[in-house]
Amino acid sequence: MTKPRLILDQDDVLAATHGKLAQIVLSDFGTNLTHEALHQGPLQQHLSPEDQKRLYKLIHAPGFFTDIPVMPNAYEAVLELSKKYDIFVATAAMEFPNSFRDKYDWLQTHFNFIPWSNIIFCGDKSILSGDYLIDDMPRNLKTFKGKGLLFNAPHNLEETAYERVRNWEDITKRLL
Ligand SMILES: [Mg+2]
Repeated sequence: MTKPRLILDQDDVLAATHGKLAQIVLSDFGTNLTHEALHQGPLQQHLSPEDQKRLYKLIHAPGFFTDIPVMPNAYEAVLELSKKYDIFVATAAMEFPNSFRDKYDWLQTHFNFIPWSNIIFCGDKSILSGDYLIDDMPRNLKTFKGKGLLFNAPHNLEETAYERVRNWEDITKRLL
């Protein structure tokens, strides 16, 4: 029997990318913003145009994606879900061409049970086909034909069009 296909986004779903960015702003940008403030709303809205440029350069530099922390409980949850679902990872890596090697190595390091054949580096995610997509970007869920679940993130707090999951515990409760 074929398993239903569950597609997972990488940044801000498997990887705590926003957390790394917020930490860089707090420790290196000489800001008086607080940790709490940086977790409310899109990060750019808190930054000056100069700091936005600085952050943009960092994200596009080789190595940025190598040491992003794993989202809490993601490994255990995905491993458990892989018994019931055919797990794919789909990341819009084309936006960050220097990230390909980093993102691939990161998945090998932290989710080594996901085979290379189930990893998709893409641009526009409307190309994806599956039963479930978990993503923090509403624009990716908008074009998805299966069931989309919005992973809670500071930049999507206002979004109400999609079923929201707050963390990996929520996801296993919803899907297992
Ligand atoms: Mg994402």
